[in-house]
Amino acid sequence: MPPNPKSRDHVAQEQFLTILSREEALARFEAALFPRATASETRPLAADAVGHALALDVSAPIDVPPFDRSNVDGFAVRSADLTAASEATPVRLLLNDEVIACGTAPARPVLSGTATAIATGGPVPRGADAIVMVEHTEPAGGNAIAVRRAASPGQFVSYAGSDIARGEALLRAGTMIGSREIGMLAACGIAEVAVVRRPRVAVISTGDELVQPGLPLRPAAIYDSNGAIVTAAIGENGGDAIFLGAVVDDEAALEAVMRKALESCDMLVLSGGTSKGAGDVSHRIIARLGKPGIIAHGVALKPGKPLCLAVCDGKPVVILPGFPTSAMFTFHDMIVPVLRRMAGLPARADAVVTAKVPVRIASELGRTEFVMVSLVEGADGLIAYPTGKGSGAITSFAQADGFLKIDALADQMPRGTEVEVTLFTPHVRVPDLVVVGSHCTGLDLVTAPLARAGLSVRSIAVGSLGGLAAAKRGECDLAPIHLFDEKTETYNTPYLADGLELIPGWRRMQGIVFRAGDKRFAGLDAQGAVRAALADAACIMVNRNQGAGTRILIDRLLGDARPDGYWNQPRSHNAVAAAVAQGRADWGMTIAPVAHAAGLGFIPLAEEHYDFALVSARRERPAVQAFLQSLASQENRDALTKAGFRPA
Ligand code: AMP
Ligand code: MG
Repeated sequence: MPPNPKSRDHVAQEQFLTILSREEALARFEAALFPRATASETRPLAADAVGHALALDVSAPIDVPPFDRSNVDGFAVRSADLTAASEATPVRLLLNDEVIACGTAPARPVLSGTATAIATGGPVPRGADAIVMVEHTEPAGGNAIAVRRAASPGQFVSYAGSDIARGEALLRAGTMIGSREIGMLAACGIAEVAVVRRPRVAVISTGDELVQPGLPLRPAAIYDSNGAIVTAAIGENGGDAIFLGAVVDDEAALEAVMRKALESCDMLVLSGGTSKGAGDVSHRIIARLGKPGIIAHGVALKPGKPLCLAVCDGKPVVILPGFPTSAMFTFHDMIVPVLRRMAGLPARADAVVTAKVPVRIASELGRTEFVMVSLVEGADGLIAYPTGKGSGAITSFAQADGFLKIDALADQMPRGTEVEVTLFTPHVRVPDLVVVGSHCTGLDLVTAPLARAGLSVRSIAVGSLGGLAAAKRGECDLAPIHLFDEKTETYNTPYLADGLELIPGWRRMQGIVFRAGDKRFAGLDAQGAVRAALADAACIMVNRNQGAGTRILIDRLLGDARPDGYWNQPRSHNAVAAAVAQGRADWGMTIAPVAHAAGLGFIPLAEEHYDFALVSARRERPAVQAFLQSLASQENRDALTKAGFRPA
């Protein structure tokens, strides 16, 4: 058959569409990379070798200690001379005419009936077989001592080679060198060691929208977080990262940077540009960089599906998904194993704990899903709260203690399931105070003194209703809530249940926001402002989500009207302010502190009550007491007032 001229394109297309399982993708990637020769280099011990993997086994060139050594300050003796020594019958020994200090080689033997003064660390002289401590002797005139105790042979002597024996395997290849290993090498007189040369890993971020931290953000741009994250994670896993900055989505420019990086580096890690979106070019370049090229493009992982794994002439080239959370997960799950092998390091040992999930977690069938969780202490064991805010959220990583895995074949994890949680750090520290519910910047002011007092506070934002449910299940100490009850026209109290009590928090003024200087709203009250907005067909609003207290207020003002923008329903006060400030909408409703921070015009309407549902059974806990004291303190009330809240 004649060759099909389209077959290359066809293959590329196939690879792009074939989603591999996580296991299959990793297996193919590793098979294409290993076994491989590791380059080694010689490094001097002091500081320079730390954090590297030993390239070769090291055996001890000498005995440590190199000679029989005294462990105490005292006298070198022949134990046979002292068999009869006791408090009642001290034995008199003549002192030899030398003192064996540290670093002094003995010159005279210890003959029967004699002793030689010796310091801790001094070499035991010929003839002697034990040391008596100076405390167990006394001067006995005329260059003699009296010994009041018998000595067993070998007493207080460290024999040559008793610590490390010459020829003994000291450290094995692959051992990560830390201060303890350096101590062993130094004790043997070894000044430099052969270590696996750290893989040099070039890091490139891609995207027209990226700005490096430290520079001003332009409109529609975001800060490059992947560059810093990946660079740090490479260092943590045995690589030397070389960050090459963010490259715009331009095929020629990116290809030039990638080729240059491959000349001097052992591995290339990009992020972004791996989906099928416009401007996603990185994966197309890889196909031209070397053989065998793309190994996997599309892995059944969540987050992280668009991951692209390639090997170009023996060097791994990886494109991580652009979303930071996805980038971090795929990096740790799929790239770290390869990087550590290249660095000669053993596989990372992650600590695992068992915990229960307090809510049902939905999951996509067919993809191994990782869910980040915060751990809190429940009535009977640990509880794992999902912290995910979607793959674009960076904070879910920082606030999480670890993650759980939902099998590719499961479409959910039922509430109450016992799961293994892989920890991000080897030790879980269960927080002293757990606050689950609606988040408010005022809360940070109240908890600040607790943090200063060394109490750890975990605040999990799940909204008022979620917090209330957690409080009822006894999974938190406090649930911050702002729930309006239309029947009684009051806040929060009607929502309490047995075992919960209300701690008044503060009031937040809700009002209409608009861009300062927008004449349509100048001088009006809230009702007037909404009338003015409805009268102008070009005026766009931003709403709030169903269930938000703010939404109830908006709906009351609007009545039956559904102006343009009504269906734009973000879930936070800040999103409303950003939409108006950036001109995506002309008006919306948010709280005063947020409006002022965004520099918006503000028309006050009504106060919302932000209070705390306290789990009564937890009231006496020290951290809860500290919270209540902070909340009531004048210092805190002043801070809240200054930030635009009105303490209750
Ligand atoms: P992409 O894979 O390039 O389509 O990117 C997916 C999403 O991740 C977009 O919202 C990007 O703006 C975002 N993103 C890509 N690269 C980075 C980065 N280095 N830092 C932060 N966000 C990024
Ligand atoms: Mg991009």
